[in-house]
Amino acid sequence: MKIDYLIIGQGLAGSLLAWELIQRQKKVIIIDNNQLNASLVAAGLINPVTGMRFVKSAAVDQLLPTAINYYQQLTEYFNQPFYIEKPMLRLLKNQKQLMACRKRFKDPAYHDYLEKIIPSFPKIESTVGILKQNKTAYLLTQPLLSSLKDYFIRLNVYIKAEIHYQEIKLSPSLQWKNIQPSQIIFCEGHLATNNPWFSALPFQLVKGEIITATAGQNIQQNILNYGHWFIPLDSKTFRTGASFDRENINTTTTSTAKKMLLDSLKQVYPTLTIEQITNHQAGIRPTTLDKMPFVGTHPYYPELVIFNGFGAKGSLQIPWHCSQLADNLINNKPLSQTSDIHRYHSLF
Ligand SMILES: Cc1cc2nc3c(=O)[nH]c(=O)nc-3n(C[C@H](O)[C@H](O)[C@H](O)COP(=O)(O)OP(=O)(O)OC[C@H]3O[C@@H](n4cnc5c(N)ncnc54)[C@H](O)[C@@H]3O)c2cc1C
Repeated sequence: MKIDYLIIGQGLAGSLLAWELIQRQKKVIIIDNNQLNASLVAAGLINPVTGMRFVKSAAVDQLLPTAINYYQQLTEYFNQPFYIEKPMLRLLKNQKQLMACRKRFKDPAYHDYLEKIIPSFPKIESTVGILKQNKTAYLLTQPLLSSLKDYFIRLNVYIKAEIHYQEIKLSPSLQWKNIQPSQIIFCEGHLATNNPWFSALPFQLVKGEIITATAGQNIQQNILNYGHWFIPLDSKTFRTGASFDRENINTTTTSTAKKMLLDSLKQVYPTLTIEQITNHQAGIRPTTLDKMPFVGTHPYYPELVIFNGFGAKGSLQIPWHCSQLADNLINNKPLSQTSDIHRYHSLF
């Protein structure tokens, strides 16, 4: 069977890219081994202004409108909300942070994102003040990926299978089993470190753990950011996370991370009582050395393409890069130099 693109991986990257290419009338097949992936674990948080110095995420003015527009289209198509916009309260840690934050308010480029600094907020412990941020949100990745999977199954373009790299034949023409794609697009998340054609790329994987719980009372409805974060899902359910572990790259949950996350939440939201912990998950972020995605065709095998490396910011970054990669593959439009894997040409 001849097709345009064989996509490997139905995480957020593979799913949104398959959607994009199908919208552009391309013949696509998407394959996934159906394991719990980073996208299903992720909180989907979108936070345009981050870090100790309150700096806008790279290219956020471009990435955010594309992401909002993209998720809006998916919401209309599947008739359910995926992108939940909620203000964020960032708890300032010390005077230095307060000064850095005040400085940002003088910069007009930040006016859309930063609302005000408030001295306190009911039930929340803060020492020097709280920054109220706008345009912050979270993506409901689980219902989104499940809707997209059902859609691919309905179109008869989804295969549940584990791809073994040695099954991929490059000559006389590209082939996997009975499928002959023009190109294979690898979207395997952290498992790309096993990919024989792309494993030279400098991934710097980071494990994270997340807790989902119900509270014994109604919870406050802002996203909280205090080094870790608290995301209200409804009047009583919330998620809190995520831990950050560069040493133990596995998907095992640990009592140490659980305790650390619950202790740090207790410090900032002491009146919160936890009725039940309904889920405790671990996943691996496909983070990269220069914190920029890995997108583009292999320098020696142009039939092999990678779409990966979205690190801790998949929800914000993937929609814009989907459209860029589709333009590159279909119309030969150059990729952005900061995400194009040709910046690492010497490693291949
Ligand atoms: C704890 C945690 C918290 C996070 N929080 C956020 C957040 O708040 N905001 C945010 O934007 N991002 C967050 N992220 C990051 C986000 O999850 C990633 O950026 C994004 O999900 C990566 O998507 P992906 O499709 O590249 O990878 P994945 O979601 O891992 O998908 C890869 C898919 O490929 C499949 N696959 C791999 N190899 C094969 C093979 N050989 N054969 C068949 N299938 C294969 C895998 O099973 C998987 O389904 C978080 C991640 C973690 C782990």
